[in-house]
Amino acid sequence: MQFLENFKPELTIASPGRINFIGEHTDYNMGYVLPTAIGNKITFKLQKNGSGDVCNIYSVGYEGFSLNLNNISISATEWENYVLGVLNELSKLTDKVKGFDCTIESDLPLGSGLSSSAAMECGLAYGLNELFDLGLSKITIVELSQRAEHSYVGTQCGIMDQFASVMSKEGNVILLDCESLAYQHIPIDIYPYKIIMLNTKVEHTLASSEYNTRKQECEEGVATMKKRNPHIKSLRDATRDMLEASKNEMTQTVYNRCSFIIDENKRVLEMVEAFKKKDLKAIGNLLYKAHHGISKLYEVSCPESDFLVDFAKTNAEVLGARQTGGGFGGCTLNIVHEDAVEDFRKEATNAYKKTFNIDLEAFEVQPSGGTSII
Ligand code: ADP
Ligand code: MG
Repeated sequence: MQFLENFKPELTIASPGRINFIGEHTDYNMGYVLPTAIGNKITFKLQKNGSGDVCNIYSVGYEGFSLNLNNISISATEWENYVLGVLNELSKLTDKVKGFDCTIESDLPLGSGLSSSAAMECGLAYGLNELFDLGLSKITIVELSQRAEHSYVGTQCGIMDQFASVMSKEGNVILLDCESLAYQHIPIDIYPYKIIMLNTKVEHTLASSEYNTRKQECEEGVATMKKRNPHIKSLRDATRDMLEASKNEMTQTVYNRCSFIIDENKRVLEMVEAFKKKDLKAIGNLLYKAHHGISKLYEVSCPESDFLVDFAKTNAEVLGARQTGGGFGGCTLNIVHEDAVEDFRKEATNAYKKTFNIDLEAFEVQPSGGTSII
């Protein structure tokens, strides 16, 4: 693109991806999650171009496009909507955004569930807030980025990804209450263990339809328990006792879904306690228990993820593992002794290749800070 010849960026922004340590499918049940940003990121370079209303965007590997701020409409090219959605949301809050040039470069592994989408939205919103001195708070950036994904991209995501990308603190996870948005940074020290992600490289197509089914099943569970407990608004308010008292009035499937969410919310809080005490064994066990629930009760795992978690169980140097993300593939998260990482990586890769004929991808992640100027 033309602007690249004369590009003298005034500002560089690092916008990270994220992992969720534990708390799967709890977000839309108004419960707890425990995410953190990671070192992999999308880098935005920005300059004002003095044009008034013309913006030029170039993303390495995705090519580029120009747009006029007076005419922001949804694009047929998917990735452009992350940019357009953010500009559209910003236009509702301020008229201070003017013409700018922007380059985007990512080192987030593609399609591995590390939320490159939130990194795109939040990085751009954060950068424009700085470039044009918009005075928006971090939480406003989080919320407008989520709205951009809903309205322009069409993904009805929860708020966790954007929250983690912007609000994280190095060496910490975030305990986020998805109902009130109250949050707390929890320091994590798992030395001499490391967080190793194994990318199954599969994304079964069931994911979005099953996601909606799970949401409905949870709502059905709440409606049934509400008959005896009128005050409950979501599964976050439900207890094991309430569930058992209503068990005969719901299908086994709905019971299992509710059972998983009630336990998973508890596990997030137990994980926080385990981090505080540096109880490494408890940290690992909670991950294995979570995966059991993901696979057998919530039924959002797949043979590939189950295989990798079972494989982890055979290695005494691995404390725990579970599938992360919405389900049916993506990555497993493993807590591995630093001396055993290389062997674990090789052995898992070989075993996975032999069984599924897929080349596994393994990488280490570290709890890192949120979006920042670099
Ligand atoms: P995830 O958020 O788990 O990485 P999504 O499907 O939600 O996966 O978002 C991925 C989409 O985000 C990509 O298909 C692309 O449209 C957009 N995206 C991610 N990284 C970039 C990038 N560096 N440049 C342009 N678009 C990107
Ligand atoms: Mg996403």
